[in-house]
Amino acid sequence: EGLKYHGLVEDCCCEYETVDRINVEVLYPLLQQIVKYPFFRYFKVKLWCDCPFWPDDGLCHLRDCSVCECPENEFPESFRKPSGTGLLSDKLFCQEEKPEAAVDRTVDAKAFKGWMEVDNPWTNDDETDNAEMTYVDLQLNPERYTGYSGPSARRIWDATYVENCYNYPSEECQEKRILYKLISGLHSSISIHIAADYLLDEKTNTWGQNLSLMYDRVLKHPDRVRNLYFTFLFALRSVLKTKEYLEQADYDTGNPLDDMKTQLSLKRLLNDHQLLSTCPKPFDEAKLWKGQSGPELMRQTQKQFRNISALMDCIGCEKCRLWGKLQVLGLGTALKFLFSVNGAQPSAQRLQLQRNEVIASINLLNRLSESVKLVHEMGPSVEQMFGKIIRGP
Ligand code: FAD
Repeated sequence: EGLKYHGLVEDCCCEYETVDRINVEVLYPLLQQIVKYPFFRYFKVKLWCDCPFWPDDGLCHLRDCSVCECPENEFPESFRKPSGTGLLSDKLFCQEEKPEAAVDRTVDAKAFKGWMEVDNPWTNDDETDNAEMTYVDLQLNPERYTGYSGPSARRIWDATYVENCYNYPSEECQEKRILYKLISGLHSSISIHIAADYLLDEKTNTWGQNLSLMYDRVLKHPDRVRNLYFTFLFALRSVLKTKEYLEQADYDTGNPLDDMKTQLSLKRLLNDHQLLSTCPKPFDEAKLWKGQSGPELMRQTQKQFRNISALMDCIGCEKCRLWGKLQVLGLGTALKFLFSVNGAQPSAQRLQLQRNEVIASINLLNRLSESVKLVHEMGPSVEQMFGKIIRGP
């Protein structure tokens, strides 16, 4: 028997079964194609550490925090492939101590033209800080196990969750709960990716699935699974709401065939009949931030999310920081789009999206789609393997 999640995803407008079906049949296959095209592959990011919250704890001096600035292709071939003599240290290969934690950078000078740089009030990153930003090829840097854990990782998650619903009166709870659920859903997705691509044996460098980790961190907690589905639908709603924008955007990276395919695949996703007929409005943002205290509550939530965004600079592992920043930017973009257009902000202002925001939104949606697919497909066998029943809502 499968996972027991039935009915509407909490606070959303689509059912679990529908989400699984449209994900497997429509979203997952299209998103997997889209993120491989040049436009969505290169993410502009400031990766060096400037944690604004804990200046004195030496986090940035950890080995895992060090940044490798040299693209691999600048190295002599002989340096890249060690001869096995053991004479060359890892550092010569421009990698951190743990190769799986290192980030590959690929700069494509041709990529990206004609996009505006506009501020996102929900996030902390300043996209105009060009001098300090590099391009990272996301396909070379999959989100997976890196070995990052312990007090540093725990402190970031704790700080991220520090403000949640329980500190507020119940009438403010729905809005506060949304933020908590988004973070929890993202946390579930990160844990699923760690478990799905795990270093099983360091000596032989064997990678594979760690099902007990997947079970312990996510599957045995129904609320974490529910929050994952919620975050997926929230991100999907924002992408569908930006349809008009996404259809007209400039995807020119200097690779005409790939750029055309990028646009066509996106169009197929945004206009898919099955998706639009079974889950046309995955989340209803109009229900939130109503009432007298609405605008003030939204300002508070925005400030809180900006702090979460700033916390990503405190992550002591480069690759985790890359994906943390990308996905938080993706969520910030969803929040900006869902709660600015016709929302509490002046609607006369036409909302603009940055190129990086579009890249983050689609890559976030793809990550969540992968996680939902894994939970849907692996859940029943993991359940059987551990001999436990996972109860739904
Ligand atoms: P953690 O995952 O650290 O969880 C801490 C506590 O949070 C748990 O004890 C539980 O009380 C609560 N919690 C856990 N999951 C949820 C949830 N879904 N909803 C609500 N509460 C929850 N490690 C990697 O190997 N690869 C990565 O790419 C990576 N990316 C990261 C990105 C970010 C932004 C952060 C902060 C950390 C990242 N890490 C990554 C580290 C990883 O998330 C864990 O912190 C680490 O593996 C240690 O796990 P843990 O078992 O201590 O529990």
